[in-house]
Amino acid sequence: MTAREFGAFTGRNLTGKLQFSWMAKIDSRDVTVVRFEDLTPRYRRVVLGGESLADFPWADFSAPDHVKVFFPHPESGELVSSRETEDGWVVLGGSTDPIHRDYTVRAFDPDRHELTLDFVVHDHGIAGRWVRNVQVGDPLVLNGPSANWLLPENFSHYLALGDEPALPAVARIIEEAPAGSRVTALIEVEDAQDEQELTGKADVDVRWIHRSTAPVGEGDLSPLETALRALELPADKSTLFVFAAGETNNIKPIRRYLRREAGLPKEQLIVDGYWKRGVVNFDHHDNELDED
Ligand SMILES: Cc1cc2nc3c(=O)[nH]c(=O)nc-3n(C[C@H](O)[C@H](O)[C@H](O)COP(=O)(O)OP(=O)(O)OC[C@H]3O[C@@H](n4cnc5c(N)ncnc54)[C@H](O)[C@@H]3O)c2cc1C
Repeated sequence: MTAREFGAFTGRNLTGKLQFSWMAKIDSRDVTVVRFEDLTPRYRRVVLGGESLADFPWADFSAPDHVKVFFPHPESGELVSSRETEDGWVVLGGSTDPIHRDYTVRAFDPDRHELTLDFVVHDHGIAGRWVRNVQVGDPLVLNGPSANWLLPENFSHYLALGDEPALPAVARIIEEAPAGSRVTALIEVEDAQDEQELTGKADVDVRWIHRSTAPVGEGDLSPLETALRALELPADKSTLFVFAAGETNNIKPIRRYLRREAGLPKEQLIVDGYWKRGVVNFDHHDNELDED
């Protein structure tokens, strides 16, 4: 596939609605780690390179864009991936099951064929541990993106909220929201050490919520939901577009609040469960969020 064939949408989305279409085919790309750096104690930025990225279908203001990252088996070291071919899906690279997780495309440099992912470093899973031990030259396989997203650019106010795994997507909204609009971001992290400098073209108001000390509303509300409920939303709701992502059990009541109490139409919301506490390789398509 070439960049020209990328999905159905390119350029600015002035429709007032999310534009979304499935890609005709899911591409697989072999990449290696070109460099990495620690952004904060719990975030590591990994830059991946490879000629296969030459036609990567990057789009602006497309924060929900993500790739499926295939990791080497932690014991055998085999990098097993699944690839879509003319004869259907095939598994390549070894005898074990493929190990994959979803990651936001944080940035893409089309001249250098470099793609950036920001990882939460943690000890609970294969991906969290892989990034802790990452070395330049380490191989990965990327599948996707499987869909072509474009956020609408004609809202005057964007609200973007999430926890650590959602921060790369929230950061993209902050950076890419159109000049002249306003972005309010609520970001839940453990403590002040994980704050990042986030700026954009819009009028940006970033509010960091420190999980360790943040107020928590009555009824077992998450710090993120408590902060959201304390936020004054614009009186004219038709001016507001919301992106919210994070731990599924925390995100579910946030969607309910936005729909049922704040009265936002579902066309003005993207809400996704990016991970689920206690679940290995949680599939965000099973996020159990209300449909209404
Ligand atoms: C669309 C999308 C985009 C995403 N983008 C990013 C991104 O840009 N950066 C990023 O870091 N993550 C991102 N995630 C989340 C990431 O895919 C999951 O956190 C993934 O489960 C991590 O894999 P793992 O192998 O480390 O843990 P798993 O093997 O999946 O899970 C093992 C255990 O670790 C727990 N766990 C998983 N993630 C975390 C965490 N962050 N902190 C603490 N415990 C955890 C699980 O609940 C489980 O108990 C994204 C998810 C989706 C759906």
